[in-house]
Amino acid sequence: MRDIIIIGSGPAGFTAAIYAARAQLTPLLIASSVEVGGELVNTTEVENFPGFPEGIMGPDLMTKIQAQAERFGTEVVYDDVVELDVAGPVKRVKLGNGETHEAKTLVFATGSAYRKLGLPEEELLSGHGLSWCATCDGFFFRQKTIAVVGGGDSAMEEANFLTKFADKVYVLHRRDSLKASKIMQQRAFDNPKIEFVWNVEVSAIRGASAVTGVQLRDTVTGEERELELDGLFVAIGNDPRTHLVHGKLDLTVEGTIAVQGRTSKTSVEGVFAAGDVIDPHYRQAITAAGSGAAAALDAEVFLAGLEDAESVDAEPVPVAVAAN
Ligand SMILES: Cc1cc2nc3c(=O)[nH]c(=O)nc-3n(C[C@H](O)[C@H](O)[C@H](O)COP(=O)(O)OP(=O)(O)OC[C@H]3O[C@@H](n4cnc5c(N)ncnc54)[C@H](O)[C@@H]3O)c2cc1C
Repeated sequence: MRDIIIIGSGPAGFTAAIYAARAQLTPLLIASSVEVGGELVNTTEVENFPGFPEGIMGPDLMTKIQAQAERFGTEVVYDDVVELDVAGPVKRVKLGNGETHEAKTLVFATGSAYRKLGLPEEELLSGHGLSWCATCDGFFFRQKTIAVVGGGDSAMEEANFLTKFADKVYVLHRRDSLKASKIMQQRAFDNPKIEFVWNVEVSAIRGASAVTGVQLRDTVTGEERELELDGLFVAIGNDPRTHLVHGKLDLTVEGTIAVQGRTSKTSVEGVFAAGDVIDPHYRQAITAAGSGAAAALDAEVFLAGLEDAESVDAEPVPVAVAAN
């Protein structure tokens, strides 16, 4: 049986692997069959990950982090976890190929998925004017005209934040009123750079190699019209990838895996979670990496505790000496 299995190959999973491997725990990392490297492989330039003053392409960053984890002995399996048994002291992980692996600890780092518009152009234009993260990409849109899709708090937050860079920010919303809290709405209404476009949905994204605009469908009349843009931000929600642990680990009201305080400890002993799957707020590569490090350190302490308990159990029972 292994000491540790890590599920997920984003910054959280691979950073947990670096720490676990350097602690001689010879981790097994299940990387997924299709999306090895996590969300960053879907983007172009990453300019806010420390250590790369000129920026680095998302896939290159993940290749480097993986190489660092493998250098210290991480074993990577390119498959998906399809079933988990976390209840007892032996954690069992079943893969798509039918194999089952066992470990004393698990780090769950499956990330989260930004909701997409469901348009065929999304994959091609992701990282080329189409983004799901204002903190990550806002800087690329200085003096540009852009739009944010959505009507909730995060759409308002993204729109307000983007006005630091862009000259003009449209908010495209499919209804005539917002779901966002009153204070966030007011902040957006008061911002002179933001213009609301009500009752519209994006029916197509224009641009061959970078976003040049969108086609909008009026949700009341059905009429179509064009809007020229330099960039489009989609802020219609985010779903933590937790389906494997429903009913097995406690979740928060936001749907992320619940952890104890600043630790990575979940509601089940020996199971740790890290990265975007526990994070409803920050969702950045560096915060995910930091939380992956914490998960490996927490797992290490847990394993040391198991070892201590085993050595106490194994100590010989003193034999009573009979009195003469
Ligand atoms: C387009 C885009 C651009 C971004 N740009 C930036 C940026 O410039 N700077 C920045 O700091 N952040 C950026 N982010 C955010 C950043 O990518 C995330 O915060 C970070 O990747 C989260 O890391 P993670 O390890 O928690 O999860 P993820 O990166 O999502 O990785 C999770 C991994 O787990 C795998 N997985 C899920 N389920 C299973 C399973 N059942 N079995 C096996 N594997 C599984 C997934 O396939 C994936 O590989 C961007 C995000 C997007 C979408």
